[in-house]
Amino acid sequence: NQKTVSVLGLGDMGSALASALLAAGHQVAVWNRTAAKAEPLVAKGATSAGTAAEAILASRLVVVCLLDYDSVSQTLAPHTDVLAGRTLVNLTNGTPGQAREMAAWAADHGADYLDGGIMAVPPMIATPEAFVLYSGPSGAFEAWRPVLNVFGESKYVGDDPGSAALQDLALLSGMYGTIAGTLHAFALIRSAGGSTREFAPLLNRWLQGMNGWPVAAAEQIDTGDYGKDVVSNLGMQEAGYVNHFIAAEEQGISAELLTPLHALMKRRVADGHADEDLTGVIELLKR
Ligand code: NDP
Repeated sequence: NQKTVSVLGLGDMGSALASALLAAGHQVAVWNRTAAKAEPLVAKGATSAGTAAEAILASRLVVVCLLDYDSVSQTLAPHTDVLAGRTLVNLTNGTPGQAREMAAWAADHGADYLDGGIMAVPPMIATPEAFVLYSGPSGAFEAWRPVLNVFGESKYVGDDPGSAALQDLALLSGMYGTIAGTLHAFALIRSAGGSTREFAPLLNRWLQGMNGWPVAAAEQIDTGDYGKDVVSNLGMQEAGYVNHFIAAEEQGISAELLTPLHALMKRRVADGHADEDLTGVIELLKR
């Protein structure tokens, strides 16, 4: 069963993963709580397993992609007797702590464990745009890398099983920050009767100008020198940021998506860092 790959979980993502494996010529054993979701994959050549245990037994490589870690635990816990000697690749979204806990649990039952974070939506799977973060033992990752590459570019981020979840969540934070700002921008445009469709290309252009920002900010953050090469000092930015709230009031919209950053900017200014860059706000996030 070396060439066979098992996929547990056939939601939108699990189905895309199983399809990609089939398209790449693998034999694929699939299982899903709601069995009917296996039908389109069986039509493409997959084998449908009657139970999760049967699916696990079919392959040395077992890919799991369920809603959350609770569903993974519920699905795997009754079948600890069939895990030994297999590699479990958990592509379910979760936290670093959950990943570490599951890695220890898998080790207790004789399985290698790789945790993964899929940085793609289902239609992107198996395209050059997709990448997947993996963490866990490098030996297991290298052994299965050629198969895992079917999903997209495989990026190994370290032997701490929690690393993939950590970086996945870090990337999603960046994404949600952009989404929050974009939604506020569109609310402002609409408040004046404007067309978001017409405005969107301009916003796109503006955001593209931010492309280099994470790299420049990381330089200041790693050196801890928030005062280096400052062209937009925090005092000036904080004074300007207030205009978001005044404008929101004038236009009759809520500025609640922008509030948390302002609170931090004000605290940083009050702490005497008005001449430094906005990046220094990160110091306030330490607990
Ligand atoms: P779906 O909602 O489409 O599918 C959820 C899957 O989890 C189904 O197979 C469902 O089974 C199963 N499930 C839920 N609860 C249980 C349970 N208690 N026991 C057994 N199975 C259970 O989600 P996706 O496929 O889109 O997402 C799966 C994972 O992939 C998530 O962790 C998600 O964060 C991650 N992901 C998704 C992306 C996306 O854009 N879709 C992008 C990147 C990551 P059933 O069919 O029986 O309900």
